[in-house]
This record gives sequence, C-alpha cells and structure tokens, in this order.
Amino acid sequence: PLVLGIETSCDETGVGIVRGTTLLADALASSVDLHARFGGVVPEVASRAHLEAMVPTMQRALDEAGVTLADVDAIAVTSGPGLAGALLVGVAAAKGYAVAAEKPVYGVNHLAAHVAVDTLEHGPLPEPAIALLVSGGHSSLLLVDDLAGGVTPLGSTIDDAAGEAFDKVARLLGMPFPGGPPIDRAARDGQATIAFPRGLTAAKDQAAHRFDFSFSGLKTAVARWVEARERAGEPVPVNDVAASFQDAVCDVLTAKAIDACRQHGVDTLVIGGGVAANSRLRALAEERAAKVGITVRVPRPKLCTDNGAMVAALGSHLVAAGVRPSRLDLPADSAMPLTLVSV
Ligand code: ATP
Ligand code: MG
Ligand code: FE
Repeated sequence: PLVLGIETSCDETGVGIVRGTTLLADALASSVDLHARFGGVVPEVASRAHLEAMVPTMQRALDEAGVTLADVDAIAVTSGPGLAGALLVGVAAAKGYAVAAEKPVYGVNHLAAHVAVDTLEHGPLPEPAIALLVSGGHSSLLLVDDLAGGVTPLGSTIDDAAGEAFDKVARLLGMPFPGGPPIDRAARDGQATIAFPRGLTAAKDQAAHRFDFSFSGLKTAVARWVEARERAGEPVPVNDVAASFQDAVCDVLTAKAIDACRQHGVDTLVIGGGVAANSRLRALAEERAAKVGITVRVPRPKLCTDNGAMVAALGSHLVAAGVRPSRLDLPADSAMPLTLVSV
C-alpha cells in the first residue's frame, strides 16, 4: 500500500511516504533551534512551529515522492504519546486531509512506529522479536509477537529515559541540546576509564528489575565526579567523562536486551528511538549479539530520531495486516500506552 505518515509528537514536523516497505519521501522540519536555549522542548513553541510547518512539509513530501494525495491508500498519524498540543496539530491535519481526499486514517503509537521504521531498512520484521526502544522520553524492552496487534512490555526505565540521561549529562558538561549527538562525538576522542554505576544490574535486582533500567543514579554519579574535579581545581576531561558515561549506558542497554532475547528464545533484536543513533550502542549491540547468534536490526541514524517515515511505515504494516482504520474522531492521546499500537 501507498501510505502517508504524519508525525508531530515533539519538536519534529515529519511527513513520510512509503509504498509497502519502500521509503519514497521523508520530509522533516525541526523546531529544535527554537528550544536550544531553554535546554529542552518548550511545548507552546513546538505546537506553533508544527502549525507553520505542516502544510509546506506535506507539500515537500508529496513532491519528493512524486505522488498526490489522491494516490495514497491511507494516512497514518501519531496519535500519542507526546506533547498534547503538538500531537493535536498532526491529528487535526490528518483528519482534514483524510476528509478532503476521502482516505482512511490510522492513529498510531509513536513508540511502535520507532520500532516499525526498521522495516524500511531491513524489510519485514521477523516475529517474535525483542525491541529495545530508547528515546528522549522512553526506554523499554518489548516482546514483539505481532507488531500490528500489540507488543508486550518486559521492562522499562524506573526514572530517566536513556535519551534524557544523554541530554542531562551533556548539559552538565556544557554541551548543546539535544545532548546525544555531542556526547557521541566527544566520546570518540575519549577513553572510557571512569567506572560509573550500571543501574539495576546487581544480583539483587535480577528478580524484580531484570528488564528495567535506571539512569538517574548514573547521571548523579557523573555530576558528583565532575564537581569533585572542579572543587579540586583540576580540569575536567570532558571526552573521557562522555566516553565513560556512554559506555555505562550502552553496557546496560545491550546486556539487558540480549538477556531478554535469550530468556524468550528470540534471535532478532531490533533497536529504535533517538538513542539508537548512538554509534557506541550500535557497535556494542552488534558485537555482543554476534557472539550469541542474535541478529541486530537498527535503522540508519536519520530514521532513529523522530520523522514521518516511521509513522508511514507502521501505517503501511497495519494496512497490509488488515487492521481496520481509526474513527474520524480519533484522539490525540499524550499518554497513549505502549500496548496500544493503533486506536
Ligand atoms: P519519545 O520518542 O520517547 O517520545 P522523543 O521523540 O523526543 O521521545 P527521539 O526523537 O526518539 O525522542 O529521540 C531524541 C533523543 O535521542 C534525545 O534525547 C537525543 O539526545 C537522543 N539522541 C539522538 N542522537 C543520539 C546519539 N547519537 N547518541 C545518543 N543519544 C542520541
Ligand atoms: Mg527531536
Ligand atoms: Fe520519538
């Protein structure tokens, strides 16, 4: 099917167009620069930016794909989770386009879309698979039995998300927002010589928190370490701190993801969400999985962070699986649960 996807859950206005699992267009307008000086996304500013970017981004995607709205089989849109006002812009636009062009509309889960986007890179996802979802607002391990029907959460962060930890640590190291990319770059010139804590990996955590994550203690440990250096009047080896922090995060993420695969007898691990763009995470996952015969699927970095193509990819999968469209009064649901793939 030819499916158009609209994404507006955070600070990225995205419109993607796919045919089956083939990517035809991925138009993106970001308001990230408007938020940078606040150190985080400002909801009101994001909503207004979506409003301004929606129609031109739509036009760019259609031009890029060389199709018109009349050609598409369905429109998919992020229904949630995300910022309420930001989601509303995309949902309202999708309804408008759906009514005008007489197309079915699918309200989809942004997090499931972060997993589905990999189909554009590597084709249909073998099921069952384990998904490691690591983004700015979420960090979860999921058992994916049926991407169209539902996913089973195995565990998630009990405090900060992985991306949030990158953003907070970057801030305390004086790096710009979002912090993932600058930490990734700095770490390449550093050595992971500082032993930072690995949250929820102690033997006592195996029972209740085997597949859960915790990054807030790590963030605090980094802050303490940097403060101690500054108090002693010694220079902070920023690149080494970045590399050591990044290693601590990636060590835990990959170890738990592979443990989940083995416990469930699954040989496919798919990684999605903005943090999946991290070069160390990609390399370490690949290295550790290869040793135990697990195949890692992770899309190219541009598809890991928010975009419209991921929404189109999930929409296309739903259409192909025969899932029925959403009602025209579909909601923008800022707290949409992970277990609900579409509404
Ligand atoms: P959610 O998907 O949970 O609603 P979001 O949509 O805001 O949150 P994404 O766009 O999926 O999040 O991811 C953004 C996050 O990814 C940011 O926290 C950013 O720092 C992080 N990130 C991006 N690139 C990298 C990288 N190379 N290394 C580590 N983190 C990265
Ligand atoms: Mg973003
Ligand atoms: Fe996201």
